[in-house]
Amino acid sequence: MNKELFKSLFKEKRLRLSHPRHLIYQELSLVGIPLGPQELYQRLLKKQRKIGLTSIYRSLDLFESLGMVFKIINGSSVKYKLCEIKDHHHHIICKACGDVVELNFCDISDWSKKVMESTGYQVIDHQFNFYGFCKACKPLQK
Ligand SMILES: [Zn+2]
Ligand SMILES: [Zn+2]
Ligand SMILES: [Zn+2]
Repeated sequence: MNKELFKSLFKEKRLRLSHPRHLIYQELSLVGIPLGPQELYQRLLKKQRKIGLTSIYRSLDLFESLGMVFKIINGSSVKYKLCEIKDHHHHIICKACGDVVELNFCDISDWSKKVMESTGYQVIDHQFNFYGFCKACKPLQK
């Protein structure tokens, strides 16, 4: 997401766009690939940016709750990727290289209906990921 959208989301939620939050956004946006909290910390440290690891963890948690970043958990490794799509969307993750693609469509109305019918719940949200092998990794998975 571009800077304007990032800023507007903070404004919308009446949250303060503090210096650490801004730094983290900039770095994620610059790199373009998923980064872990430690990696972010090291990169910002090298650039002489004053930021604590705790504040990186907190900011990433906040970004995730706002749907600005996607949290990728792979075993014990946790990485975050900046989302380009603002509204509800899903992701597909390559099991081999960790590449993430955002999906700008979500068509699960039949599925939701089935869930509601079988449980009596009123479904208000859902969250899931797709996993597979990307075009580059697919030929290697034989
Ligand atoms: Zn996303
Ligand atoms: Zn791949
Ligand atoms: Zn969906």
